[in-house]
Amino acid sequence: MPSPRYFINHFMPFTGYPYKGAPSACNLCGSTESVVVAESDRRLKVLRSIACEQCGLIRTDPMPTVPELADYYATAYRADYQLAFAGGPPPHHLKRSAREAEFRASLLAPKLTAGARLLDFGSGSGEFLAAARARGCEVIGVEPGRDYAAYARTHHGVEVLDDADDATFAPASFDVISTHHVMEHLRDPADVIERLARWLKPDGVLYAAVPNMAATGKPPHERFHFAHVHGFVRDTFDLTARRAGLVPHPDYWREDTTVVYAKTDAPVPALSNPGLAQRLAAELKPMPPAAYLASGAWIWPMVRRNAKAVRDTFVSK
Ligand SMILES: [Zn+2]
Repeated sequence: MPSPRYFINHFMPFTGYPYKGAPSACNLCGSTESVVVAESDRRLKVLRSIACEQCGLIRTDPMPTVPELADYYATAYRADYQLAFAGGPPPHHLKRSAREAEFRASLLAPKLTAGARLLDFGSGSGEFLAAARARGCEVIGVEPGRDYAAYARTHHGVEVLDDADDATFAPASFDVISTHHVMEHLRDPADVIERLARWLKPDGVLYAAVPNMAATGKPPHERFHFAHVHGFVRDTFDLTARRAGLVPHPDYWREDTTVVYAKTDAPVPALSNPGLAQRLAAELKPMPPAAYLASGAWIWPMVRRNAKAVRDTFVSK
């Protein structure tokens, strides 16, 4: 069970997270110029996010180091985020995941034909792998969350690797690659998208989805979370794909940062979005704290999240 210090470190508003981090250059364009877009996260904890002045990609600053992120996932992620769950994923997660998998499978239906080779990068509890296999695909997953990977192997009988480096798959191995809400967790999302693009056949498609940081309808700071070290909007997501030689496929539905990409031979344009960082800083500007507290908008998210954390911590067996 997590210690009292754990709760202070991870839930006490107006204090920072237990990490030091290090300054980082933009993973998409390499620039070190930036604009601050947020100073706190959805728990009202201190967490600075910046947007790259050149391309607009949002990242945590300072960026957690590799060991700090590993430590976070090993100790805090379970209670914080309810993904790596002792004894396997909870029923409400499986329900939501099955619904999402069916949606993704219908979107990609034209490519999910008998014998098509499919990789799900960040395959979680395996529902999408199972849905694609049911359509005749040869499927494989990559999932570093051990409990979830084990669940996928046991309950869906699918092959899941713990991790994958560049050499794990030969270039042009897959007809379809999908990655659902993974890139925002990575320190190097632009490099990983390039790797996925290399593994894709010339006529293959990449389904990629991340949270849209420009989404309206919730207070700006609600979009920030310690586990999300990068933040995308439509422009920066497309530019990340573009750097990897990918463009949105015109035949597929898209919504902001849920996109099906195809390969292109066209040269990569300049990796810049003039003015985007400033626009994001204005859009994501937090409400003044007094107005936010008076609005009551914090009550429901706080109840919901704390209920989740308590359930994760005490009712996991
Ligand atoms: Zn940049």
